[in-house]
Amino acid sequence: MSQSDADGTPARTCVSCGINISGTNAAKFPCPDCGHQIYRDANCRKQSTLYECPRCGFTGP
Ligand SMILES: [Zn+2]
Ligand SMILES: [Zn+2]
Repeated sequence: MSQSDADGTPARTCVSCGINISGTNAAKFPCPDCGHQIYRDANCRKQSTLYECPRCGFTGP
Protein backbone atom coordinates (compact mmCIF):
# COMPACT_ATOMS: atom_id res chain seq x y z
CA MET A 1 0.00 0.00 0.00
CA SER A 2 2.76 2.40 -0.74
CA GLN A 3 1.68 5.01 -3.19
CA SER A 4 4.89 6.67 -4.23
CA ASP A 5 5.38 9.64 -6.47
CA ALA A 6 3.18 9.70 -9.51
CA ASP A 7 4.75 9.83 -12.91
CA GLY A 8 5.48 13.31 -14.15
CA THR A 9 6.69 14.61 -10.82
CA PRO A 10 10.38 13.88 -10.82
CA ALA A 11 12.04 14.20 -7.46
CA ARG A 12 14.92 16.59 -7.68
CA THR A 13 17.36 15.39 -5.14
CA CYS A 14 21.12 15.41 -5.14
CA VAL A 15 22.35 11.97 -6.18
CA SER A 16 25.33 12.26 -3.86
CA CYS A 17 23.81 13.39 -0.57
CA GLY A 18 20.09 13.10 -1.25
CA ILE A 19 19.00 16.57 -0.23
CA ASN A 20 16.14 18.27 -2.00
CA ILE A 21 17.67 20.62 -4.53
CA SER A 22 14.57 22.20 -6.00
CA GLY A 23 15.11 25.93 -6.15
CA THR A 24 18.82 25.68 -5.48
CA ASN A 25 21.75 26.29 -7.77
CA ALA A 26 22.22 22.64 -8.57
CA ALA A 27 23.79 21.14 -11.63
CA LYS A 28 21.89 18.74 -13.79
CA PHE A 29 23.28 16.53 -16.49
CA PRO A 30 22.40 13.29 -18.22
CA CYS A 31 24.07 10.09 -17.16
CA PRO A 32 26.86 9.41 -19.67
CA ASP A 33 25.87 5.79 -19.76
CA CYS A 34 22.08 5.68 -19.89
CA GLY A 35 21.06 9.31 -20.22
CA HIS A 36 19.10 9.41 -16.98
CA GLN A 37 18.79 12.96 -15.67
CA ILE A 38 21.07 13.43 -12.69
CA TYR A 39 21.03 16.31 -10.26
CA ARG A 40 23.82 17.34 -8.00
CA ASP A 41 23.85 20.28 -5.64
CA ALA A 42 26.51 22.95 -5.77
CA ASN A 43 28.11 21.78 -2.54
CA CYS A 44 28.70 18.23 -3.75
CA ARG A 45 29.81 19.55 -7.09
CA LYS A 46 32.39 21.75 -5.44
CA GLN A 47 33.72 18.84 -3.45
CA SER A 48 33.73 16.61 -6.52
CA THR A 49 31.68 14.04 -4.68
CA LEU A 50 31.16 10.85 -6.59
CA TYR A 51 27.71 10.35 -8.02
CA GLU A 52 25.91 7.17 -8.84
CA CYS A 53 23.22 6.91 -11.45
CA PRO A 54 20.07 5.57 -9.77
CA ARG A 55 19.08 3.80 -12.94
CA CYS A 56 22.17 2.03 -14.21
CA GLY A 57 24.59 2.37 -11.31
CA PHE A 58 27.19 4.30 -13.25
CA THR A 59 29.55 6.22 -10.98
CA GLY A 60 31.60 9.20 -11.94
CA PRO A 61 33.28 12.35 -10.68
ZN1 LIG B 1 24.70 16.79 -2.54
ZN1 LIG C 1 22.78 5.82 -15.86
